[in-house]
Amino acid sequence: MCSGGVSLLVVCDVCGLRGARVFQAYSGLRLCGECFVESVRSRVWGEVERWGLIEPGDSVLLAVSGGKDSYVMLESLALRYKASRLVGLSIIEGIPGYNREDDVRTLVDFAKSYGVDVVVVSVRDYVGLSVYEMVREARSRGLAESACTFCGLSRRHIMDYYARMLGASKVATAHNLDDEVQTLVMNMLRGDIVGVLKVHPLSSHPEGGVRRVKPLRKIYEWETAAYAMIRGFRFQETECMFIEENPTLRAKVRVALYEIERESPGSLLRFLEYFDELLGSVARGVEVRGSTSNCTRCGALTTRGRRLCKLCELLEGISLREPLYVKLRLNVKSRRL
Ligand code: SF4
Ligand code: ZN
Ligand code: ZN
Repeated sequence: MCSGGVSLLVVCDVCGLRGARVFQAYSGLRLCGECFVESVRSRVWGEVERWGLIEPGDSVLLAVSGGKDSYVMLESLALRYKASRLVGLSIIEGIPGYNREDDVRTLVDFAKSYGVDVVVVSVRDYVGLSVYEMVREARSRGLAESACTFCGLSRRHIMDYYARMLGASKVATAHNLDDEVQTLVMNMLRGDIVGVLKVHPLSSHPEGGVRRVKPLRKIYEWETAAYAMIRGFRFQETECMFIEENPTLRAKVRVALYEIERESPGSLLRFLEYFDELLGSVARGVEVRGSTSNCTRCGALTTRGRRLCKLCELLEGISLREPLYVKLRLNVKSRRL
C-alpha cells in the first residue's frame, strides 16, 4: 500500500455524518466509506469523460482478471453505462495455484448482478497450451523467455480476438495510477518516446485495431484496495508463481516511486496530471500504431516488415507452428455488441 490508511473516531470531512475510515493522504481528507467510494467512482467517471475513453455508441470489452482493480473498474463502469454496452473477458492463464475456479465464479456472479456478461476463456483453449505448459516447453529447450512474455502476448492476442468477435470498439483494462506512472517512468528511462506517447489517453494505439482505455488511471492502488475492502469484494488475492519474473526495472521504479509518494503524498498523481497536460496537444489524434501488416500465419495485425506476429514467432520457438487460434481467427466474423 502506498499512501493513505484507515483512521477511527474522526468524522468524515465530506458528509460530516459518519465516522472516517480512510485517510486520503494526498488530499488531506478523512472520509467515511460511502464518501470514499463515491470519490473513487466520480474520479473514474471524470477521467473517462475528460478524455472520451468511452463515447456514445461505444461498446466496451472489460478485461477483468478477478483482482481488486478489475472489480472496481467493473462496478464503477456498470453503475454509469448500460450493461448492454459492456462485456467482461476473463482469461485463465493456466498457472498452477493462481487460477482458481471459485474466484472466476465469484467474478462472473458479481458481473451478472449488474447485468454484465463475462466471457471466460483459457489460454490453453486459445493457443493449445497453457502459460505454464509454454514455459515448461521453453525451459526444456533452454530458452530464456519469461513466463510473463508468454502470458502477456497470449492475453493481448485473446483480447484482440474477442474484441473483434464481439464487436467491441474499446478494450478497457484495470491499470491503476501506480501502474501507469511506473510504465511512464520506465519508458522515459529507456528513451522510448513511442512508449511515452502511448501512455497518454488521447493517443490512439490500437492493439489489433481496437483502442485500449484505462478508466482507473487516476486511482491509486491503495485506493482500489480500500474500495474493495469497504465494498466487501471477494477478489482474487493469490499471487502468480511467476511474479518474481516481472521485469526488474519495473520493480525498481515501483520501490522508488513509493518512497517519493510516502514522503510527498500526491506526487504520482501530480506527475501524471502534469504529463497529461504537457502532452495533451501533442498526443491528440496521434496514431502510435505505426505502419502495420498482417501475420502470415494467423492474420493478426503486426508491425510492418514482420512475417509473423510476436505470439506466432514466440510459439515457433517452442515448435508450436499451428496454435489453435489460427483456425479460430480465420473463421472470426465481427459483429456489433
Ligand atoms: Fe502472467 Fe507474469 Fe502476471 Fe504471472 S506474473 S499472471 S505470468 S504476467
Ligand atoms: Zn462521508
Ligand atoms: Zn500470428
